[in-house]
Amino acid sequence: MDTIFSKILRKEIPAKIVYEDDVCLAFHDVSPQAPVHVLLIPKKPIVNLTAATKDDERILGHLMVKAAEVAALCGAKEFRLVSNSGETVGQSVFHLHFHILAGRKLGWPPG
Ligand code: 5GP
Repeated sequence: MDTIFSKILRKEIPAKIVYEDDVCLAFHDVSPQAPVHVLLIPKKPIVNLTAATKDDERILGHLMVKAAEVAALCGAKEFRLVSNSGETVGQSVFHLHFHILAGRKLGWPPG
């Protein structure tokens, strides 16, 4: 599996990186839907949450803990965390990612 996010991970295409460690990378979405719109991805190429397995528990836990830290790095105490898992619910890049959205009033339910 090679996606646009694999290229970002390999630094083959540029991204505005907010945070990086040995497990994950966070970078600004190229088409922001809110004043803060950052994508948090594992370095392991997991397709989506549907494809994640028990072996990925440590990675998924790490991402959940890092989400609030990344939001805080962007100046957001309150944020929405979204992961589209599958084409019909809006997934367009098939490398697991969490959208961190903040900085404006967000409606519910999502469209
Ligand atoms: P999805 O639709 O899969 O939930 O989210 C994919 C996200 O990746 C979209 O919000 C889209 O704007 C973002 N995206 C797609 N290509 C690129 C890219 O090349 N660079 C960055 N930074 N974001 C991208």
